[in-house]
Amino acid sequence: MAENVIEVSNVSKSFGGVKANVDITMAVERGSITGIIGPNGCGKSTLFNSIVGYHPIDAGSIKFENQEISHLRVGDIARLGMLRTFQQTRIYSKMDCVDNMQISVSHRPGSQSTMFASRRGEIRERAEHLLEFVGLYSKRNLISGDLSFGQQKLLEFAMALMNEPKVLLLDEPTAGINPTLINGLIDRLRRANEELGITLCVIEHNMRVIMNLASHIYCLSNGKMLADGKPEALQNDPRVIDAYLGGH
Ligand code: ADP
Ligand code: MG
Repeated sequence: MAENVIEVSNVSKSFGGVKANVDITMAVERGSITGIIGPNGCGKSTLFNSIVGYHPIDAGSIKFENQEISHLRVGDIARLGMLRTFQQTRIYSKMDCVDNMQISVSHRPGSQSTMFASRRGEIRERAEHLLEFVGLYSKRNLISGDLSFGQQKLLEFAMALMNEPKVLLLDEPTAGINPTLINGLIDRLRRANEELGITLCVIEHNMRVIMNLASHIYCLSNGKMLADGKPEALQNDPRVIDAYLGGH
């Protein structure tokens, strides 16, 4: 039986009077691509923030590889092998792509060894390899601020891969990307999952994308877990259809 790499149990998180997450329970199977959907403001990004230790939760338990992590901070959780990307890209727009890639590793806590020359060469090689993986090799020496928005998203994805995560949480990776690049991005996400063995958990607003990508999908609504299941089942679930129609 497949093992869960993330287990979220009865997690709640409020901001003042706003109940962003209420009693959320979900799991991510190792090796899977798991989707999270739901109308704007339903608590998807908050859930990611709770999982990666960006803020303390009010109640519940979050386990990564059977270890309780809800009391740990972002750096500790990253070191265990779980990273997230953001809805807004976080690249250094005045640096070129290779430098952005290299910086994303040396910022990782506990990686002082990046100071050594041999390690630097190795990192540069990995940076170029991963830029090729996401289709940005020919742009590697360009200032990243000159890339299109979609290319910046690909760069950010490659930067996350530099840290060799076991699990990567992606917050709306296709938001703002034109349809042709979206297909390329989906392809890269799938390859990262299949070839690099990275478990992916993806928040996605584009239903076509998530139905195509995920093997299991969770749907949030008003901070609560509304439904979960395989894409086909979820797509036809009247509660999910209502949440989308009523939510906008
Ligand atoms: P989603 O990602 O599904 O669009 P969010 O998790 O970003 O939803 O937001 C859920 C709710 O929590 C919203 O009402 C939002 O305004 C609120 N919220 C999120 N982050 C904060 C914060 N740091 N401070 C106050 N309210 C927040
Ligand atoms: Mg969000």
